[in-house]
Amino acid sequence: MESYRVQIIKYPHPTLRHKSKPLKRVDRELKQIVAKMFELMYADDGIGLAANQVDLPYRLFVMNVKGDPAEEGEARAFLNPVITRKSGSAEAQEGCLSLPGIWAPVRRPEKIVVTAYGMDGNEFCFEMDGLYARAVQHEVDHLDGVLFVDRLSEANQLAVREDLEALIRQFETSRRLGAIGTDAQITTRLEELELART
Ligand code: ZN
Repeated sequence: MESYRVQIIKYPHPTLRHKSKPLKRVDRELKQIVAKMFELMYADDGIGLAANQVDLPYRLFVMNVKGDPAEEGEARAFLNPVITRKSGSAEAQEGCLSLPGIWAPVRRPEKIVVTAYGMDGNEFCFEMDGLYARAVQHEVDHLDGVLFVDRLSEANQLAVREDLEALIRQFETSRRLGAIGTDAQITTRLEELELART
């Protein structure tokens, strides 16, 4: 897969509903993909980006809650992340690079413990709260095919409905123009990619 073709897909692209399988290896191409994901995330002013948002079936996301490439210490790739503990409850606004222009409050556990592997293959574990805990939960949801709009209250679901319908119309137009493959083509490609690394 050519890394220049890595781009952010938008709702309701079917890959956003794909439940990713754990990665079995890290190779040079995966490192290039991760570098490209950071680039795309910063370019769109995001703080996190999951692999299925760039149409890849890997259990991997990148994050920098400062949203600033200069804050290198904050930039981290999470491979095969697992949230092992959750506690408390907090509500805050969320947005998503795959749902441009949509913002809504989401209630989630306030504190988490997350375990994952880094690009160096070493396991790490963090206890997190605030924006860190929220961003990790949002990204792990992506890896399970879950979007933040799935977690809205009924009233907020109604509030974003028109915007979601506009994204659906844009998606259908792109598909008619041939920019997006059929569901079957997308599934076949994801299965081929999974065979290689998961
Ligand atoms: Zn997102």
